[in-house]
Amino acid sequence: MTPDLDVIVADIVTAMGAADERGTVASYIPELAKIDPGQFGIAIATADGRILTGGDAETGFSIQSISKVFALTLALGKVGDQLWDRVGREPSGNAFNSIVQLEQEHGMPRNPFINAGAIVVADVNLGGHQPRVAIGEMLRFVRYLAGDDEVAINEAVAASETATGFRNMALANYMRAFDNVRHPVDLVLGTYFHQCAIEMSCRQLALAGRYLMLDGRHPEGGRVVSPRRARRINALMLTCGHYDASGDFAFRVGIPGKSGVGGGILAIVPGRASIAVWSPGLNASGNSQLGTLALEELAQRTGWSVFSPPPEGD
Ligand code: GLN
Repeated sequence: MTPDLDVIVADIVTAMGAADERGTVASYIPELAKIDPGQFGIAIATADGRILTGGDAETGFSIQSISKVFALTLALGKVGDQLWDRVGREPSGNAFNSIVQLEQEHGMPRNPFINAGAIVVADVNLGGHQPRVAIGEMLRFVRYLAGDDEVAINEAVAASETATGFRNMALANYMRAFDNVRHPVDLVLGTYFHQCAIEMSCRQLALAGRYLMLDGRHPEGGRVVSPRRARRINALMLTCGHYDASGDFAFRVGIPGKSGVGGGILAIVPGRASIAVWSPGLNASGNSQLGTLALEELAQRTGWSVFSPPPEGD
């Protein structure tokens, strides 16, 4: 038995409400700089079908890089293991938008969760279509995973990033020179910026992550991915999901997680829970300050970890 999860959630919400050090809201995407940093939300979808929520769990936020998990899932469905000819599977040890490593490694990104890797994934998902086709497919996929047709794209956020995403333009152009981006750069980035601008609440995000706790099964029946693919996506989240802070996240929290600069984190306890936390203030590595703290507290109180046996009676 998981020890009183609703009590733990309530305690975490109280503790996060009182926290002094809340990090800094991302300002390089102007639209995100407007978000009130005083917010915190948490939602936990359990394998036995419960959903627990606390704080601002129903407030929509920009999922940003968390979308890279869903985009990767789609791209693997399209091209399978051929994806790994174009994107690596190693932690980068660098910032999410680093350019220097890409030059040393001849336009092949370290992994699908740094920006360069996600841009290659967006290129795969574009697959010869117009961006609106790929974006529509992505949105339908996320709605299907969450079981919620209300999930939508925030066009103002997408436009804000299109107007200011100069580093991503540099990354994409650089990879285009190596033929690792194959469509025109503006189409690839149009796809990428729109997937990042998907807005979800903690509740919707926790629901969307359920296939990763269920070995690839959709909770309503059918399969999203094979068990092996679900395990591999979880492995990449653990090793690469927090960029150059992935080791620290594994050390402190001990479960696969993917962060976004909107302040959200999706975290998976295989066989037990899909968790979404959100607080807009970021730490120096661009990961949610309070979101990480909340997951650390949750893992500690529940005993959830991929590095230890299931908690007693669970
Ligand atoms: N859209 C953001 C970017 O490309 C995503 C980064 C993130 O969430 N870490 O910069």
